[in-house]
Amino acid sequence: MKNVYLDNNATTRMADEVLAEMMPFLTDRYGNPSSMHTFGGENRHVVDRARQQVAELLGCHADEIIFTGCGTESDNTAIRGIAYLDKKKQHIITTRVEHPAVRTTCRQLQREGFRLTELPVDEKGRLNLDDLRQALTDDTALVSVMFANNETGVLFPLAQIAAVVKERGAILHTDAVQVVGKIPIDLSRLPVDLLSFSGHKLHGPKGVGVLYIRRGTSLLPLLLGGHQEFGKRGGTENVAGIVGVGKACELAREHLDEENKRVGKLRDRLEQGILKNCPDVKINGDVNNRLPNTTNIGFEYIEGEAILLMLDRLGIAASSGSACTSGSLEPSHVLRAMGIPFTSVHGAIRFSLSRYNTEQEIDYVIREIPALIKRLRELSMFTLKDASPQAPYERKPQITATAKTP
Ligand code: PLP
Repeated sequence: MKNVYLDNNATTRMADEVLAEMMPFLTDRYGNPSSMHTFGGENRHVVDRARQQVAELLGCHADEIIFTGCGTESDNTAIRGIAYLDKKKQHIITTRVEHPAVRTTCRQLQREGFRLTELPVDEKGRLNLDDLRQALTDDTALVSVMFANNETGVLFPLAQIAAVVKERGAILHTDAVQVVGKIPIDLSRLPVDLLSFSGHKLHGPKGVGVLYIRRGTSLLPLLLGGHQEFGKRGGTENVAGIVGVGKACELAREHLDEENKRVGKLRDRLEQGILKNCPDVKINGDVNNRLPNTTNIGFEYIEGEAILLMLDRLGIAASSGSACTSGSLEPSHVLRAMGIPFTSVHGAIRFSLSRYNTEQEIDYVIREIPALIKRLRELSMFTLKDASPQAPYERKPQITATAKTP
């Protein structure tokens, strides 16, 4: 079997229905929504309809939605847009396990003079609400906490976090890039002020992000320019992309419950198959509270990159960390923050599923993995077994792309 795609937290296949909806706006209907003529003006309605489709998925008002260029831009707009607003509030709180889109932005603000608190997580990737309570001060401008972790799928308790943050009057932003379309979100009941997500993670197109801004929340635009997006994001709208993300949200809303269950069962089947047939394997993260599509599996005593290469030759796509950091060969900051032992961090593989995965595909992966892991452990030029679990996070000579295909 070829091409089993289990890297859906990196990006997803665009749904056929989404592409079909976008096509007219990539071809004949190229008008600028800001134009006075009908040719452009008609596209204004199309953008507004997409806003409505997004709002219906999130349980909010259409005028609380702005479109951006990606999830990263939405995160940057939310964080910088709040941070620069009130000079008297110079404190930002985030966590140690955020995606670089949030982490790097907060650290840049720290270099610019803001105080930054990065909250720790426990060995299962969970946040302690008392840490958050203690960190909040009168000059805390913003708390930015991800809804679910992209590497482990662990969900943070947003409702409880919101209650704590609101008690102190700070603004709450959540990076929900991995959550929208995977589990239900109802912003009419969840008092977050800002929420980001990205079209390409829910079978929509790349190059379009969404930022929810609760009515009454002021923020400085990141991109200054035209009056587009209620003056909060200048730049001619990516009409086709916006239409695509709108349709992706509509599809997600229609299929959310049934897909959740089906994908969750497939993920569990994969996990159980691997745990049963491979020794020295652990699931990283809180298995009782995570996204239904994600599992992060630590294969002890081998290198994740070697596993990925072998999987790739079998047509199986997975990831050894977030797509953005896996190229850097640095062990995952998320797993390190969780205190996962050295011997396991390096062999951590994320499998992330979607509505397009089948039982057949999962069974293929379960069949192939045990022999692959056994072979890699035999091939290993150094035994991580000799290393102490607390050994420093440094890379040593290792099996790499030169390892022979089993
Ligand atoms: N936040 C999280 C949690 C993510 O997983 C990602 C992408 O992997 C992003 C932000 C960035 O989204 P985008 O690729 O659309 O910029």
